[in-house]
Amino acid sequence: MRFKAIHTAQSRIIPSVTTDISDIPSLFGSNVFGKEAMKEYLNKDAFEAVNKAVNEGKTIQREIAQKVADGMKNWAIEKGATSFTHWFQPLTGLTAEKHDSFYEVWDGKAIEKFSASSLSQQEPDASSLPSGGLRNTFEARGYTAWDPSSPAFIMEKASGKTLCIPTIFVSYHGEALDYKAPLLKTMSLINKAATDVCNFFDKNVKKVGSSLGIEQEYFLVDKALYDARQDLVMTGRTVIGFSPAKGQQLEDHYFGAIPARVFNFMYDLELEAMKLGIPLRTRHNEVAPGQYECAPMFEEINLAVDHNQLLMDIMEEVGRKHGFKVLLHEKPFAGINGSGKHNNWSLITDTGVNLLSPGNDPLSNLQFLTFFINIIKAFHDCSSILRASIASSANDHRLGANEAPPAIMSIFIGSTLTKILNDFESGKKSSKGENDKKINVHNLLDILIDNTDRNRTSPFAFTGNKFEFRAVGSSENCGRPMIALNAAVANQLLQFKKDVDTLISKKKKTDDAIKEVLKSYLKSSKRILFEGNGYSKEWEVEAKKRGLENLKNTVESLESYLSKTADEVFVKNKIFTREELHARYEIKLEDYIKKIQIEGRVLDDMIYTQVIPAAVNYQKKLADSISESLEAGVSKKNLKQLTDLLNEICIHSDSLRTAVETMVDERKKANVITEAKKKAEAYCNKVKPCFDKIRKHSDKIERLIDDDLWKIPKYREILFIK
Ligand code: ADP
Ligand code: MG
Repeated sequence: MRFKAIHTAQSRIIPSVTTDISDIPSLFGSNVFGKEAMKEYLNKDAFEAVNKAVNEGKTIQREIAQKVADGMKNWAIEKGATSFTHWFQPLTGLTAEKHDSFYEVWDGKAIEKFSASSLSQQEPDASSLPSGGLRNTFEARGYTAWDPSSPAFIMEKASGKTLCIPTIFVSYHGEALDYKAPLLKTMSLINKAATDVCNFFDKNVKKVGSSLGIEQEYFLVDKALYDARQDLVMTGRTVIGFSPAKGQQLEDHYFGAIPARVFNFMYDLELEAMKLGIPLRTRHNEVAPGQYECAPMFEEINLAVDHNQLLMDIMEEVGRKHGFKVLLHEKPFAGINGSGKHNNWSLITDTGVNLLSPGNDPLSNLQFLTFFINIIKAFHDCSSILRASIASSANDHRLGANEAPPAIMSIFIGSTLTKILNDFESGKKSSKGENDKKINVHNLLDILIDNTDRNRTSPFAFTGNKFEFRAVGSSENCGRPMIALNAAVANQLLQFKKDVDTLISKKKKTDDAIKEVLKSYLKSSKRILFEGNGYSKEWEVEAKKRGLENLKNTVESLESYLSKTADEVFVKNKIFTREELHARYEIKLEDYIKKIQIEGRVLDDMIYTQVIPAAVNYQKKLADSISESLEAGVSKKNLKQLTDLLNEICIHSDSLRTAVETMVDERKKANVITEAKKKAEAYCNKVKPCFDKIRKHSDKIERLIDDDLWKIPKYREILFIK
């Protein structure tokens, strides 16, 4: 086999884990400036000030901030850190850092220095990060500001250690240029909205927060094979590649035995994650060959998002150590499953109640139904902004493809809850009504525990005590969809409170008012509930009948950033200004254009410099062989198959060149369009469709020609790690 040498060499790389695992509890969070470290390194005032900042959003005074900075610096230096950085999440979707040394040179000597202002604020010249026009290049300043609610940590990379301080990132005029700042705003919003609603049921509740557990899917490929494919290197996915005889049809990979080399990677990753306080718990093989998943225990939403961003970074690092490249792209390989990132989300009170966990008494059941139905209504009313919150050129390959949640936003709740909601809606108003009694059954909890049916085809599914947003792509910054979900639900809960209060002011009993409002919500939003197969053609037809949107691509779906719903949910609630929304819209369009443009260029390059030359070589080999055979006296008739093969190769090469040239023409036409939306549409509707044609001919050639002449690693060589 052509890449056998690489395989053999790589399979020997099974680095053993160097971390001391004799004391796992003390390993956990050992690189985090968390509660324990703070207790040790901060005085009482500083410790309390940080806690108040975290729990009550109180500002930390300057003198106290200096104390925190001193403690943090001492801790970090004792751990071997030499530099610090503000760690933030710009709109590239990646993380960003700009390191500064702890040491300043004075009089020829290196002195440690870390001031309160270095901790609280930095001014990275970030003119090269996306701002969607919010920050003109001449006004290049952007500010990062410390987020005390996400603890600082030490990142160990190669042989250096750096103190990382999670921060928000805003422009000179205060507009958000990241995902963290708006997420924090939605957290206060949902806290207020959900607490008020909770107080209908329990006056002791003072605070409600969102919880998030993120299941991360990914592919592992051999680094050497990855390096030999420029499409993987440049775009994160394969733009050509003939499907191997065996893909995932035997269903033998899912939950299968984990290959030793992969296991070592996972184990090492878990230890690294543990040091950073990321509570990874689950690991398994996924459906496609070469595909895996890891999931942590759920955490408070801001921390969960930070941890997932951090996890993606360390996956890359640990992968490198093990001779792997971790592919986080949503669709690295055609013909087999793509990767997602299930966002398991719920609401939890400061009294420890999961509001999506059905209780075992009538009142808590009504509380459960209240939140449950409000979330359904929020998802229904805001489905277009939720769809937009997960849109990207990469996720377009996955959504609506035959193995991923469809682009139609719907909710799966399972048959038991469907029945309960039906009974609830049709129930008589009187509390003595038979149907109302059914809702008030004391064992709703038990019923649900025994009835958590699953539906892998739904983009948003209720799974027992949480909703799972499954349409999120594997490389996404979860802040983006979570801002949308939090804001949509909070906005809905604010409305609910108003509607109930209106009825109460008309002398309705609270319980009756709540039920009446919930019933009307259910009526107006139940068309979004769907229990069937989301991958099927019938659902597309049915969804259309129900009037549900099917926004198949990023360009169409991004429009909702500018919609009335976005105004209602984001602007009215002060999560984004209109300008910020517009900036995000522009950034996403730009991102779409550039990504498709790069894919087009890569295709162009690979076809001309690798595929066609390989085809020409094979043509020559065949032609030589035919003429030599003729010379040796073989009859033409007996050379028919070879001649046919030669012709077939020639036809595909020829069509391939035509298809590439058509794509290049379309790209040229698109590139002269100045308006972002029109340009994105041209890339989406004119350029991208050419990819399929090119791929078809290229894959035919790959299938037909001599293995020795094909220089690009094949799917069958990349996907099966032993
Ligand atoms: P699956 O959904 O595949 O059955 P799990 O039940 O283990 O898997 O949950 C998947 C993720 O959901 C995990 O990260 C888990 O911590 C998280 N999760 C569980 N309960 C909640 C909750 N109340 N809020 C948010 N996430 C949760
Ligand atoms: Mg799950």
